[in-house]
Amino acid sequence: MSEKNEKIEKTPAAKAQPLSAVKGMNDILPPHSGQWEWLEDKVRALMARYAYRNIRTPIVEPTQLFVRGLGEVTDIVEKEMYSFEDRLNGEHLTLRPENTAGVVRAVAEHSLLYDGGKRLYYMGPMFRHERPQRGRYRQFHQIGAEALGFAGPDIDAEIILLADALWRELGLQDVRLEINSLGQPEERRQHRAELIAYLERHADLLDEDGRRRLHSNPLRILDTKNPAMQAVVEGAPRLIDFLGEQSLAHFEGVKAMLEANGIAYRINPRLVRGLDYYNLTVFEFVTERLGAQGTICAGGRYDLLIGQIGGKPAPAVGWALGVERVLELVREQGTDIPLPVPDAYAVVPDASALPLVLRTLQQLRAAGVAVQMHAAGAEGMGSMKSQFKKADASGARYALVFGSDELAAAEVTVKALRDGSGAQSRESLSGAAAWASRLKT
Ligand code: ATP
Ligand code: MG
Repeated sequence: MSEKNEKIEKTPAAKAQPLSAVKGMNDILPPHSGQWEWLEDKVRALMARYAYRNIRTPIVEPTQLFVRGLGEVTDIVEKEMYSFEDRLNGEHLTLRPENTAGVVRAVAEHSLLYDGGKRLYYMGPMFRHERPQRGRYRQFHQIGAEALGFAGPDIDAEIILLADALWRELGLQDVRLEINSLGQPEERRQHRAELIAYLERHADLLDEDGRRRLHSNPLRILDTKNPAMQAVVEGAPRLIDFLGEQSLAHFEGVKAMLEANGIAYRINPRLVRGLDYYNLTVFEFVTERLGAQGTICAGGRYDLLIGQIGGKPAPAVGWALGVERVLELVREQGTDIPLPVPDAYAVVPDASALPLVLRTLQQLRAAGVAVQMHAAGAEGMGSMKSQFKKADASGARYALVFGSDELAAAEVTVKALRDGSGAQSRESLSGAAAWASRLKT
């Protein structure tokens, strides 16, 4: 053990006081976690239908990846990152605040685009040091889709359609799509000059963040959440009026494909996104039903990012959704999420039967039946009454009663718990595979 580690072991915090999770970081417990699995299952199935493949990258990345990728004058890099120095080798590391940069790093590092574009998706925790509140946490979870190596508006439309299809899969209503185009860097430069001139004329109306960003990142001022600045922002020169022919054609292409698919959208000229890496199409899915944290999914095109982090330049587009917010919306709408329950609960009056019981349960499980076994407590197996109570509470539709009568006949009683019939039958222990299908949902 190194000296440093020894020091940590001896700090008073190591005494047996109850510990709690870090502020803003949540435990996701059953039965709630069942809702997460339900969402993840739907996402996996949907991604497969759009031929997006799973990618898993490390949660910790070199700090430079985010500084270079997201831009230094962004909320995330300025004040939200969990960055630290590796005590053993001095490396500067950061818990990922988002995963587009990590995906792009991996794609470049492994030359994934050598044989053409790739469609990828990920799910996982992200970390931002923000003020915890409803819909805003320090460890939160994103599901993201990224399509790399494709330049046309068709892939922008595809990835938006994918998100829209997910809302329908989840039964979400009242989700609105807002889109905008940020054009190309040269167009932004021209807009930027006029924007700065305008904001300078109204400098007295800017808040502290606004004044600080006036010259470093004026576009971001348009993104402000400060109500006092809405008026000045409303009157600012609009980026969309600076777009050239090509940028406009790309935007028109995206819009035409959305319209052909009946996807309603609203053009929001003030939608600029919080990160520096976007160009052309940007979009957000928003709802009024979650209070202030109403953006459930956000994304756009980022044709410059791969080059920016040192890879061979390639176009790309993607989005990320906030799992906590999406699930809150699902719950808010009263959607009935099926929680996992066992098909059957094994009631075992006498512990001596357990070896045989376990063997039967294994056969049932191998045949696809979900079975919960009544396990021994400190006082043994407990009364039949208490076991049936547990069977009821488990949600199982059948009790499997391994009583001494049954076992003497090499059988088990299968008793219906939920249909009100109380119907029961005897089944043979050796032929479990034959009657297993009757127990399945
Ligand atoms: P916001 O404007 O709400 O801070 P953002 O622009 O920082 O969002 P993105 O970086 O675009 O968010 O992340 C995509 C999505 O991830 C958001 O639309 C949101 O649903 C979710 N998200 C972002 N930050 C948090 C957080 N701290 N807690 C929970 N969800 C978050
Ligand atoms: Mg944010």
